[in-house]
Amino acid sequence: MLTVSGLACARGGCQILGGIDFELPIGEVMAVLGTNGAGKSTLLATLSGELPRHAGEILLAGRPLGDWAAKERAQRLAVLPQSSSLAFAFSVEEVVMMGRLPHSSGWEEDRRIVAEVMLAADVEPLRQRNYLALSGGERQRVHLARVLAQVWGSAKPACLLLDEPTAALDLAHQRLILQQAREVAQRGNAVLLVLHDLNLAARYADRVLLLDRGGVSALGVPWDVLEADRIKQVFGVEVQVARHPQRNCPLIIS
Ligand code: ADP
Ligand code: MG
Repeated sequence: MLTVSGLACARGGCQILGGIDFELPIGEVMAVLGTNGAGKSTLLATLSGELPRHAGEILLAGRPLGDWAAKERAQRLAVLPQSSSLAFAFSVEEVVMMGRLPHSSGWEEDRRIVAEVMLAADVEPLRQRNYLALSGGERQRVHLARVLAQVWGSAKPACLLLDEPTAALDLAHQRLILQQAREVAQRGNAVLLVLHDLNLAARYADRVLLLDRGGVSALGVPWDVLEADRIKQVFGVEVQVARHPQRNCPLIIS
């Protein structure tokens, strides 16, 4: 779905990221991990076309990112930035409906999809509320619903890029959103998401891309990437890695 080769990104004249190569196939959830400032948001902003590439190539569904017309690309690539804001007093339902703007699927279909994604992100009870009067976590779920609406029920595979989607969420909503990400991937899409919680990455991601000071430190399945020595080297924290008692995934104990 997404092919990245030899990617380098610069900001303010400084190279922030270099030598990034990976393939994100349909059906996969990939977690991007790394310390603050490692370049995770820069990577997502470059993959979404918000920041220009410095070098390398990004292919979306086999076609260079820059070759896509904006509307067509928005049908295949949905992005949740690290912080989203809105200055106007839209209702929650109106904000979620914005996710349908790239589509010409008609009012009835849009209403059906918006109802479904509001349930998926648990914002249905907030439907009529003023977006500006919501808490940080509630706002984050509204934006997630909006981004889900952009790719929901799409006939063609799409890619979701989510920058710290669980940052403001309580425990139950973290699980809900990551479960939704898995289901979106299972329905024939691909998901790339930035996380800070290594255990959430271990549990929900098929593969992990670990960034360190602007480069790829490791890329692979959670068992291969989330090793105690590597975590110590990248994050500077001593951990133990055990097997999750119920799931066949690593459990990182710090
Ligand atoms: P992460 O999301 O992994 O915490 P970012 O991708 O936001 O990191 O930032 C990577 C590096 O780029 C940091 O060192 C940050 O200071 C720098 N950076 C971010 N935004 C800008 C900018 N607009 N101009 C110059 N440098 C920036
Ligand atoms: Mg960031």
